Amino acid sequence: MLLEPIDTRPITLANHLIKFLSHFHPVAYALLRADLTVSQVSGNFGAVLSDFLNSPVVENRYLPDLVWEFVGQEEAITLLLQGKLPMLTLELVNRPGKNGSLNYLNFYLTAILGEQELDNCLLLLVEDVTATARIEQQLLQERNELRLIFGHLNQAHEKMEQLNRQKSLLLTFATHELRTPLTVIDGYGQMLLRELESVVTAPQRQLLENLNQQINHLHLLLDALLDIDKLEQGRIDLSLSLEVLTDLVRDVVQSLQPVAQRNEILLTASIPAGPIMIMGDALRLRQLFYNLIWNAFKYTGREGEVQVRLHRQENRARFQVTDTGRGIPPEQLERIFQLHYRVTETSQEGISGSGIGLYLVKNWVEAHHGRMEVESVHGQGSTFSVWLPIQNYS
Ligand code: ADP
Repeated sequence: MLLEPIDTRPITLANHLIKFLSHFHPVAYALLRADLTVSQVSGNFGAVLSDFLNSPVVENRYLPDLVWEFVGQEEAITLLLQGKLPMLTLELVNRPGKNGSLNYLNFYLTAILGEQELDNCLLLLVEDVTATARIEQQLLQERNELRLIFGHLNQAHEKMEQLNRQKSLLLTFATHELRTPLTVIDGYGQMLLRELESVVTAPQRQLLENLNQQINHLHLLLDALLDIDKLEQGRIDLSLSLEVLTDLVRDVVQSLQPVAQRNEILLTASIPAGPIMIMGDALRLRQLFYNLIWNAFKYTGREGEVQVRLHRQENRARFQVTDTGRGIPPEQLERIFQLHYRVTETSQEGISGSGIGLYLVKNWVEAHHGRMEVESVHGQGSTFSVWLPIQNYS
């Protein structure tokens, strides 16, 4: 079989190349003379360069007149013709299209070395890369916008941290300033109660006790404000030591017995005789037991019953407070541990509170690697349980 000789003329090769490249982008070509005038162009040359050309006639025109970006490239073109430079590339040359948005072309100029015809000694390939260039531009713009947003977010974050620090400082200062006069008032209140004990009537004594109770409440509130601030900053300072949990609970129950009696609440406790040991912060544990029992009183009212139970279950202790109070509607049960959340009807009925206690209690329990549970029947009462890991000392 006789094979046809391969046509190696530049024009034929350029045509093949264009067919292949056109699968990716629209591509056109031109053959140029050494003086940079156009000798031949592909059929689609005018279409690909439509935004660049001021006249459809391109043959015999000088390349820098068609695309001004070639002005000043004479030195590079001489090197091309001498075979010292493989290719001259101009990338992302752009012109506004008819709809106003930019169209992008890449130009590749190369010498056809060994070419006898002087008419065809340079090949100019033109690649329309508008589609990818626009995507790249878009990505670049979006990346810049993201960088800007990121910068704004960083600034906002820094500002927030700064405000937070100022808030903490102000809070510490304010609570300190408030505590000083409060301690003095507290002292006078205690003194009045002691000194006038024998001369005051029962109702007057009750008034003095109420006064002292409110002062105590204010102290606790100031502590709670500082605790919340610490929690918001992710800090819970626990001072851990080996504690006798049974004694702690017994103490708290005893200290609250007079309050129960005054409010005609029957407070009972079931605490094992043998010690249950725990690695914990005595102050925080006392506060959390105190809070739960106090809440039981507050939401139970006169002639109610509050039962405290402590027992051991394998390597955990379970502290429970059950009351016969108003209970909590089931749909609000999940939310009572959130900061500042109060069950709608309790706030509506004017029972004082701030929605801080249970939030702190839950956080303290979790800081002790414990868990909290609540069961409640609306209108009948509630049981709050605290599970705490215990220390096996035997
Ligand atoms: P406060 O009692 O100051 O409002 P808490 O955080 O201690 O704040 O309690 C959050 C809410 O949970 C209370 O407002 C109340 O509605 C409800 N709650 C807490 N303990 C009880 C309880 N023993 N019985 C019924 N409702 C309770």
